[in-house]
Amino acid sequence: MGYEIEKTDAEWRDELTPAEYAVLREAGTERPFVGEYTDTKTVGVYSCRACGNELFSSETKFDSHCGWPSYFAPLAEDRVEYIQDDTHGMRRVEVRCAKCGSHLGHVFEGEGYGTPTDQRYCINSISLKLRPADA
Ligand SMILES: [Zn+2]
Repeated sequence: MGYEIEKTDAEWRDELTPAEYAVLREAGTERPFVGEYTDTKTVGVYSCRACGNELFSSETKFDSHCGWPSYFAPLAEDRVEYIQDDTHGMRRVEVRCAKCGSHLGHVFEGEGYGTPTDQRYCINSISLKLRPADA
């Protein structure tokens, strides 16, 4: 399967910082509680840092206290794709940008957060770029 935006590894390395590349293109995870958007309350839209695809609205961001930005739903279901992830001895669902295939984080459900969907999209800050609504 292909993505709307496809680039070679060399191109991605050229466009992204090493830290961005490690998460977006190698499915790394940034350390908890250090990401720039963990506690951000700013109203706006979060886009994919690799390709600009709009992914999450601040309206679905909630305080999960897990150390990463958390959303209870994507902006639209077709903005992301889901991949079964059985690495690290866990059964998780990876969330990727549907437009460029970059790694965003994971989605968990049934944790009892009391959000409308009972889902937690646990997303790396470094995978996102916030565009404030008033900017
Ligand atoms: Zn993308």
